[in-house]
Amino acid sequence: MYEHDTIAAIATPPGEGGVAIVRISGADAEAIAERIFIRSGKKSSALRSHTLYHGKIRDPRSQRLVDEVLLTVMRRPRSYTGENVVEIHGHGGAFISRQVLGLVLSQGARQAEPGEFTKRAFLNGRLDLTQAEAVLDLIRARTPKSAELALQQTRGELSNWVQELREELIQILVQVEAAIDFPEEDIELLRRPEMLLRISRLREKIHDILITYDWAKLFREGARVCICGRPNVGKSSLLNALLGAERVIVTPIAGTTRDVIEDSINLDGLPAVLWDTAGVRDSDDQVERLGVSLTREHIAKSDLVLVVLDGSEPLAVEDHKLLGEAAHRKALIAVNKSDLAQRFGAEDLTSFAGAAQVRSVSAKTGQGIAELKESLRNLLLVSKVDAPVVITNLRHRAALERAEASLSRASTSLAEKYAPEFVAVDLNDTRAALDEVTGMIGNSEILERIFAEFCIGK
Ligand code: GDP
Repeated sequence: MYEHDTIAAIATPPGEGGVAIVRISGADAEAIAERIFIRSGKKSSALRSHTLYHGKIRDPRSQRLVDEVLLTVMRRPRSYTGENVVEIHGHGGAFISRQVLGLVLSQGARQAEPGEFTKRAFLNGRLDLTQAEAVLDLIRARTPKSAELALQQTRGELSNWVQELREELIQILVQVEAAIDFPEEDIELLRRPEMLLRISRLREKIHDILITYDWAKLFREGARVCICGRPNVGKSSLLNALLGAERVIVTPIAGTTRDVIEDSINLDGLPAVLWDTAGVRDSDDQVERLGVSLTREHIAKSDLVLVVLDGSEPLAVEDHKLLGEAAHRKALIAVNKSDLAQRFGAEDLTSFAGAAQVRSVSAKTGQGIAELKESLRNLLLVSKVDAPVVITNLRHRAALERAEASLSRASTSLAEKYAPEFVAVDLNDTRAALDEVTGMIGNSEILERIFAEFCIGK
């Protein structure tokens, strides 16, 4: 799978920009650069590593000048890929950067596949798999928090944690292996309870980390909030107030927002998608019925339901119905139109609302909107646990779940006094699952899939 040829690609995004970077990696990177680069000023000495040189790119066949550039050589192993890397920083035009790349390719480099630079960094041991994946998360991060989490992972915090766990696991495994090798030694009475305790501690650690996935996913993908309420309570107005701009057309005719409208807001670093739905009233109108089923679908998919009530009118049957549906979910109740005379208060809702928080707001005047946003954020993040690392990647979660499951089997085998061989099999499964997280044991198909998600040039 691992090719030792020299690869090249434009590392900057397509289109016009200040600078475009052509990146070359591999054994021939420097030789290729020397054939097309005319250095300014004195040229006697060889290029120094990690130094920026000014010069021109020239086609060695036609002697035609292609671009004026800055060029740097980063010799192995102190480079991103761990190989010799050359970067040519040229003028940021799509045509001109393609010309420079074309010249590099004509001199023997191969066009890089998506993510191939990062893949080489992994294969050369510059990054482990969690770090390589974090590079992708970092590129894709849309909020400061998701960038922070990805950056933590690029520094190897997850891998370090997995390594610590692996060390502890190996210590237990050594004892089990000893029991297999020296069956006459009576490890039975002395060690079994101790091993059980150590295994259960390991399981707890893995469990704590697994919980962080849902929490981190909110930051990465955005929390989904479904705004529900009967027509005319002010859902669209509230959505606008939350967005801080007129986005949705507000109309005084009941039942006009039939499609689900989607918009995103930033809740102090937490991205949230808001769905403004049609409500859940019983209706004979087919279009409206469609809207109602869409609402139910969105309620089911959401992380939080924001029930909107009209405080200026008595509670209607539909309101009760909605409150009933929301009672089984994470929900927040906004009593809207607080600028008008109120017909009921938060205390009237306690019997329907269960544990849901109630906030009084006015979409019209903006009263209570900031507090509503704060409550939304707090409620969405309520499951945050204090764990040493946070996992954000589905692949890591799957592997850690397998690690937890095999530890649980090991516990059972030990408790049921099975032969130590069985316990060893389970513990070795755990080790394999942990090694999968960091990529210590690689499945080439998985690797191909991970790196294919990257852009070309990374
Ligand atoms: P939706 O059908 O639930 O989306 O409700 P809309 O947002 O379309 O609002 C229905 C009507 O209520 C419109 O005439 C709004 O101007 C009005 N409205 C919405 N929020 C408030 C509020 O906080 N105070 C007052 N006085 N009127 C509001």
